[in-house]
Amino acid sequence: MDGQSDFSVNIQRNCVVRGFHLETLDRYIQELIHEAEQALSTAYAPYSRFFVGVALLLENGKVIPGSNQENAAYPSGLCAERTALFAAGVQEPGVPVMAMAIVVARSDGTELSPAFPCGSCLQVLLEVERRQKSPVRVYLKGTGQQVYEADGVSVFLPFGFDSSFITEP
Ligand SMILES: [Zn+2]
Repeated sequence: MDGQSDFSVNIQRNCVVRGFHLETLDRYIQELIHEAEQALSTAYAPYSRFFVGVALLLENGKVIPGSNQENAAYPSGLCAERTALFAAGVQEPGVPVMAMAIVVARSDGTELSPAFPCGSCLQVLLEVERRQKSPVRVYLKGTGQQVYEADGVSVFLPFGFDSSFITEP
């Protein structure tokens, strides 16, 4: 095919991730990131030793924490992002999620860059945004003071699958 195609699919997305030093962010975002760091201590990660803490800021001001929960039967565990998003769905049903802070660390103190959510968590986050009809601002932090900011899941999952593909016309 030599790089040629039969027709042009003109779908483009801007995927912009901005970088900030922690201390330059708004106070409430710094506090949300701090809540995510606090949630690291609740992670159960004896297998990967990769700890993830999450904090969701809801529209009503409540903060929902999450952390990764592993299992000896590996697929039975769950990521921090989904533990938080599902907990919010149970504890505060229908309340929009405004922002999500995700912090990663390793038990041996290894320096880590901010880490992006996995595909499954992005899929769940996509559905949260579709349900509440507004994006969730995402903040990512590793072990340093650098924070990545993105305006919503579309930054990480620009061509996501949602219910519009399977809904009857
Ligand atoms: Zn995940």
